[in-house]
Amino acid sequence: LSERLQSALAKLKGKGKVSEADVKAAMREVRLALLEADVNYKVVKDFVSKVRERAVGQEVLKSLTPGQQVIKVVNEELTQLMGGAQSKLELTSKPSVIMMVGLQGAGKTTTTGKLGRYLKKQNRRPLLVAGDVYRPAAIRQLEVLGEQVELPVFSMGDQESPVTIAEKGVAEAKDQDYDTVLIDTAGRLHIDETMMEELKAIKEKVEPDETLLVVDAMTGQDAVNVAESFNRELGLTGVILTKLDGDTRGGAALSVRSVTDCPVKFSGMGEKVDALEPFHPERMASRILGMGDVLTLIEKAQASVDQEKAKDLERRMRKQQFTFDDFLEQMDQVRNMGPLDEVLGMMPGMGQMKGMKNLQVDEKQLTRVEAIIRSMTREEKQQPDIINASRRKRIAAGSGTTVQDVNRLIKQFMDMKKMMKQFTSMSKGKKKKGFGK
Ligand code: GDP
Ligand code: MG
Repeated sequence: LSERLQSALAKLKGKGKVSEADVKAAMREVRLALLEADVNYKVVKDFVSKVRERAVGQEVLKSLTPGQQVIKVVNEELTQLMGGAQSKLELTSKPSVIMMVGLQGAGKTTTTGKLGRYLKKQNRRPLLVAGDVYRPAAIRQLEVLGEQVELPVFSMGDQESPVTIAEKGVAEAKDQDYDTVLIDTAGRLHIDETMMEELKAIKEKVEPDETLLVVDAMTGQDAVNVAESFNRELGLTGVILTKLDGDTRGGAALSVRSVTDCPVKFSGMGEKVDALEPFHPERMASRILGMGDVLTLIEKAQASVDQEKAKDLERRMRKQQFTFDDFLEQMDQVRNMGPLDEVLGMMPGMGQMKGMKNLQVDEKQLTRVEAIIRSMTREEKQQPDIINASRRKRIAAGSGTTVQDVNRLIKQFMDMKKMMKQFTSMSKGKKKKGFGK
């Protein structure tokens, strides 16, 4: 999935500008990638339409290229899809009871040990309860894990009913001052009535704070279906996705939350006891997009860079140092931002000057303007005063425009500068205006 998504988005990454068609094409590939990754069909449909809506919509951040912005939107929506914020365990009772449920082989027993270890590190005192009396050696398996993570295991052999064991386990915890009870239960190969009834009986008896479904991420869409039935029958407070280390497609991770409305609380990343991690939707999204923390970095940089740029620009305008380079930069932003008068409203000190008729330029004109400025030399851009008649002729030729076009632009620029000057002298003594705020 990562690869497919990355290649779909890579095409956008380098682009300075992204058209609606670009976004559409990228989204088509994103859609395919998700479907191939076994993400639920309805989830994919909603996801793609949300991203498309936002990507071609109004959200524009100045320091990101449009390509980066689409990626940012995809990342945000992926995060949202997986629940947005991290979902923590809610352990309130004393002792708090966590019941582990799931199909055979999903990783319940292993995860019980892992979670015990995790909670111990959070300064809790967990007791593990061996509630699987059916699978040969299941009790022994938990005891071995208990030794590894240095936690006590409560067991009553395989002759008592799981309900009794769970109940006695909780009583034992109360007695011995353990604050958390983790109950390992038996699974079946498939969901069946007997198993559900037994789990329901245990649940009724011990009233767990958390009923966690342990589900094998590698089973993809099946994992989602399993989560749906367990949630319907039993009521879940969370899901633990195991074997995410081997899950290359990511389908379960992506759809479990939105299909079942159950938050994924942890992920299993390997067979070892320390291979359990709280599930962070944002990190998972970034991992799927394969960009690690790059996006967060961009986000952080963006906030400061924008402000700095704006401040710098404002400073320069006040000193009448506004050059064609600044002009060009503003133009670039204009293209991505929409109506020029709105953009002008966002420029430092320009809010008051809306309706400057000679600055109402349309898209075609913008292209021409850009070409003209790009045909200027460095000096000309920085000191427009030196642009004499022969320079104007050269610029016109170089940009494929006419001298009149060049004249008009320079006049516009000079007018703009003059107005800024007026404005800055006008506003002297007044409070400084911020950038768009
Ligand atoms: P249970 O039947 O649900 O209790 O499942 P077990 O805890 O016995 O686990 C079944 C198998 O899955 C074992 O071989 C575990 O080592 C393996 N397993 C569990 N969690 C993970 C995981 O996160 N990653 C990997 N790679 N293997 C896991
Ligand atoms: Mg087991």
